[in-house]
Amino acid sequence: MARRYKQGTARAQEALLPPRVEDYVSETNLVRAIDASVDTLDLPELGFTKSGGDLTPGQPAFDPGLLLKLYLYGYLNRVRSSRRLERECRRNLELIWLLEGLVPSYRTIAEFRRVNGKALRAANRDFVMLCHELDLLGGETIAIDGSFFHASASDASITTKKHLETELKKIERDLEAYTQSLDANDAQEDQAGDGLDEDPALAEKLKELKERQARKQAQLERLETSGETQFSRTDPDARALSKGKQQVTGYNVQSCVDDKHKLIVSHEVTNEGNDQNQLSGQCRAAMEIMSVNAITAVADSGYYSEVELAACEAAGATVYVPIPDKHKAVTGQGRLSGKRFQYNSTRDVYICPAGELLPRRGQPQQKNGIRRTRYSRPASQCRDCPLKAVCLPASGAARRIYRSEHAELIEAHRQRMAESGPEKMRQRAGLVEHPFGTLKRWFGWDHFLVRGFKKVRGEMSLMILGYNLLRVVNRLGVGALRDYCVRRKQVGNSQVLTHLAA
Ligand code: SF4
Repeated sequence: MARRYKQGTARAQEALLPPRVEDYVSETNLVRAIDASVDTLDLPELGFTKSGGDLTPGQPAFDPGLLLKLYLYGYLNRVRSSRRLERECRRNLELIWLLEGLVPSYRTIAEFRRVNGKALRAANRDFVMLCHELDLLGGETIAIDGSFFHASASDASITTKKHLETELKKIERDLEAYTQSLDANDAQEDQAGDGLDEDPALAEKLKELKERQARKQAQLERLETSGETQFSRTDPDARALSKGKQQVTGYNVQSCVDDKHKLIVSHEVTNEGNDQNQLSGQCRAAMEIMSVNAITAVADSGYYSEVELAACEAAGATVYVPIPDKHKAVTGQGRLSGKRFQYNSTRDVYICPAGELLPRRGQPQQKNGIRRTRYSRPASQCRDCPLKAVCLPASGAARRIYRSEHAELIEAHRQRMAESGPEKMRQRAGLVEHPFGTLKRWFGWDHFLVRGFKKVRGEMSLMILGYNLLRVVNRLGVGALRDYCVRRKQVGNSQVLTHLAA
């Protein structure tokens, strides 16, 4: 007896698909949230431009909102390339519903992402405002973290100053060798009279080398003028970045995550290899978008910088950043580190472990953007000290202590970290690991498809907008977000906060 299996619908049957496009997607489908949230945006106000790509003159352009919906859908479904997006528009029922059957060409799709970098940032910001309106942001504690994302450029595209200098030396050696060969050729020619012709291959090679030398020289001059040490030949803004064992040709993406629902409230794409200059800028950006005058920020020790801590305090941010132990090497050698010297503010002196005084010497000096005051005790006064072998430098010079202009602020920070640092660091790990983990592992968004800051920043905004949208849907559900967006559109974006307060 033949086995029975489940039977599908016969292909020749007329009503294979639901009769209405509206029935292609359920009421709780994510595409309805994408549709409603994009419809609430004032696209011309945000700076979106029309996308016509390969349209013939006279044909109407595609609505930027439609292309933004397409990209959001694609990024949330691991489809990012313009050619694959075009293909999906033809066969994907959710996209047929979302775009109402329109199929932009891959050129139009790619052009939208290329020309709307700034507008995509504005759209992302608008969605954070929407989260704020919905009371989804706590505005009290943020976690800041940086992560490397690969550029659309290979490691081999990076040229460093050292690499250029080595290449130029090699070209010079080759030029010398070829010039000598040419000279020898000329000498032979002279001896042979008119019988020997100039070697055209040799002359051509010499010309090639000279052109290469000029190109490399121009690149070196460009680096020296800009003060940078490397550049990528493929993506002008990407850099070879390294952190611990991680080495990436790409960008360093900074993000601020609000602790209420792990939403990314602000972000920035940089090409700096470390996070040391980022803390205050990130705090200010997060405070500005959440309209708060004070905030608590947690970050890892890579963010520690006296200048940045001072800037955070001035901005109203209380930060928790582990203090790297600068004295480790000294104490490891069994020597007395600066930590063992106590500052006496009443007398403005340092007291050494032997109980002697180190008074202030000279005027404060500037180093790495920090004003430092020197306190020292001449070696001649330490002659009889039993600690001099582990205290004085090997050269036998005076013992010196430098006090930073931010010393009091650093001391307060040290105390804050001693009281609640471990707890804050646990909180930090729980907050920042989620967004980057989701972006990279869940969605596979660990690399950019576009090049240059302007476009890369736009693409990053698209990724973060997708991440935040999904979190809001998970929190509120498609229906609640859609209802709010409809209301927001009716009232007008700028009046929403007033309206809600009323
Ligand atoms: S060597 Fe001089 S500065 Fe160092 S502990 Fe002794 S007295 Fe103090």
